[in-house]
Formats: sequence, structure tokens, C-alpha cells
Amino acid sequence: MPGWNHLRQSRHERGYGRAWAKARTIALTRDLHLCQPCQRAGRTTPATEVDHITPKAKGGTDDLANLQSICSKCHAAKSAREAAEAQGRSLRTRTTFGLDGWPVWPEGR
Ligand SMILES: [Zn+2]
Repeated sequence: MPGWNHLRQSRHERGYGRAWAKARTIALTRDLHLCQPCQRAGRTTPATEVDHITPKAKGGTDDLANLQSICSKCHAAKSAREAAEAQGRSLRTRTTFGLDGWPVWPEGR
């Protein structure tokens, strides 16, 4: 499953062009360069990226209202979650079932 390997900036981040670069700067300035998901969780983390709150794949726009500053860790987690959702399952609730029909818990529990 893809997801956690996406800590690097993707190729198309550069391909967004000047309008995106401008919106990105405005969003970071508005959010004081702090990761918004971390802030909501009571943490103060510098943001290194700007995220679409509603992913473009789901009809989100480049409008400032749909942009939030985000740290690479939150961004990776959000992308992984969205990828999992797109595949119709969640990373957190992935459970395997044994031959007896009961869920098999990961080792080391
Ligand atoms: Zn964060």
C-alpha cells in the first residue's frame, strides 16, 4: 500500500505554477507558518507545506478557504488516509481474519 513513502514533495507540487505558489505563500502567512491540524490538536509545529482541505480529487479548489498550512507528517498521514478512503478502506481498521472467522490481532499486543 502506498502512503507513508510520500514524505518527499511530489513532482506536481512544482508543476502547479505561479498562481499556486502565490496562494501557498498567502495561506502560510495567514496561518503564521503553523501546521493547522497540529494546532487543533494543541501542538505548535512549523508548517512546511500547504494542503487542500478538500482534496482536488474530490472537487476541492485552490481557493484560500480550502487551503491550510500543514507539516510534512500531517500531510503524509492525511494523504495516506485519503488514499485508503479512495480504495474504500481505512488504514486504521485493517483487520485480518483467521481460519476460525475471528479477527487476528497484530503480534506484540
Ligand atoms: Zn502537523
